[in-house]
Amino acid sequence: MASANLLRSSSISHATFTTTNPCRNNRFANFRPVNPSDRRPVFSSNYQYKPPPIAVQAQSKRGLLQINEEETASPADLQFEAPLKIVMYPDPILRAKNKRVVTFDENLKKLVDEMFDVMYKTDGIGLSAPQVGINVQLMVFNPAGERGEGEEIVLVNPRVVKSSKKLVPFTEGCLSFPGINADVVRPEAVKVDAQDITGAKFSVSLSRLPSRVFQHEFDHLEGTLFFDRMTAEVVDSIRAELLALEQKYEDRTGLSRPESIETRKRWKAATGFGRS
Ligand SMILES: [Zn+2]
Repeated sequence: MASANLLRSSSISHATFTTTNPCRNNRFANFRPVNPSDRRPVFSSNYQYKPPPIAVQAQSKRGLLQINEEETASPADLQFEAPLKIVMYPDPILRAKNKRVVTFDENLKKLVDEMFDVMYKTDGIGLSAPQVGINVQLMVFNPAGERGEGEEIVLVNPRVVKSSKKLVPFTEGCLSFPGINADVVRPEAVKVDAQDITGAKFSVSLSRLPSRVFQHEFDHLEGTLFFDRMTAEVVDSIRAELLALEQKYEDRTGLSRPESIETRKRWKAATGFGRS
């Protein structure tokens, strides 16, 4: 049996990150959230922090990276209005560059509080800043999906420094794609360097559900959406739903859709991590 938390997440079709395929529980047993009676901390890593490769590059090629990769967020970039609203596909905000956070202040803490708030309200278990219209490298998640339960995790400026060779399929949903759930293949485990809400650096190894949630949210910080990683066959199975979201965007905004699933010439599922 899946845990109560998993079932609750599964019953909500628009959850940020859901596991919605009960018939596959046997195949995906490794990704069940930790049972409440057997809940272990997600962050039990003993890894020593080592500067991520990108930080080393930033020192040696600072000028170049500030333009291309390491642009930092200004206070204006971190301005937000509560309550936060979820940005829907195909809004270009989801494809925009996300800046590094360098100011660890009260405003950042408030933003994180608001992100957890909207995440719990929508029965999500993970949420990235661009999904609430803030293009910075910040994500929150709690595999338990319930305030006061499990462990609330905040990752600022995360980097994937290692990922397992073993790839596993798993059914994902995304708050920016309400009602769409489909299989995505990803590495089973990842090692991550990041900063916490105070700016302190740390390193952690994630597996099972926390690894899956992290990778989905990390993709958002890279401007990658979950259907980018689906096979052509899986994309075909949700094509009509993607087109419906594109039409809704046009109806809502009066603008042309900035991207469309129909204009992709040749489908190739995205693989690997942009910065690992
Ligand atoms: Zn998502």
